[in-house]
Amino acid sequence: SRPEKVLAAQGITQRYSGVLALQDVTLAIGRGSFSAILGPNGAGKSTLALVLGGMLEPTAGRVLRADATARICLVPEGRRLFGQLSVRENLLLGGYGAKLDRRGIRERIDEVLAIMPRSIQEALARPAVTLSGGERQMLALGRALMARPDVILLDEPSLGLAPVLIDQVYDVLADLHRQGTTIVVIEQMATYALEYARALVVLDRGRVVYDGPASGAAAEQALKAGYVGEH
Ligand code: ATP
Repeated sequence: SRPEKVLAAQGITQRYSGVLALQDVTLAIGRGSFSAILGPNGAGKSTLALVLGGMLEPTAGRVLRADATARICLVPEGRRLFGQLSVRENLLLGGYGAKLDRRGIRERIDEVLAIMPRSIQEALARPAVTLSGGERQMLALGRALMARPDVILLDEPSLGLAPVLIDQVYDVLADLHRQGTTIVVIEQMATYALEYARALVVLDRGRVVYDGPASGAAAEQALKAGYVGEH
């Protein structure tokens, strides 16, 4: 039997005035999968992330979710955090929609901190702006986790991070994946994503040019043809 799909894009086209950012993109994400969506600069990755995350209504096509209550969380590129608010307050904002009481919130924060590196646990009272790039990326992920998402989409989680920090982020994602969360990483750089992902979509100039297993000759060929970079 085919694995159940938790999220799918059907014929997505996105036009920004003159620019055709996505052209008839169709793909499906299996429940519990670890997927990578890779493509070179300008391929349409951020646009697809916004569409899949429900933040952007595309020009044409639709996004389908397996069930209406599935929580899809997008961790955007650039780690949009509230810099002047503390780490703890940033986490609280992530749990805002969860309608928890004080005790529930405390438990949820503890649950999220348990999988964050020590440096985040120790920085709870500090303004987010004082965190390093890697810590910010981790906090952005932690904030998304406050909603206990079923699917977590990350737009360029490795961007601007030193390799050791990229490993840290991906190790946390691997933990979440083991616990049953569906993970979708959207990256320009292939190396780290391909160490973890089993499913791969390659985008090039707004089109899907590959959709299949993340390893094997066909995947390698598609990545080479799409000029997807390596670290
Ligand atoms: P990058 O890695 O450079 O962010 P990307 O693969 O994420 O690229 P997108 O950011 O989705 O690609 O952009 C796809 C195309 O759409 C590009 O040509 C880009 O210039 C254009 N584009 C993206 N956002 C907008 C916007 N808000 N208005 C106009 N054009 C846009």
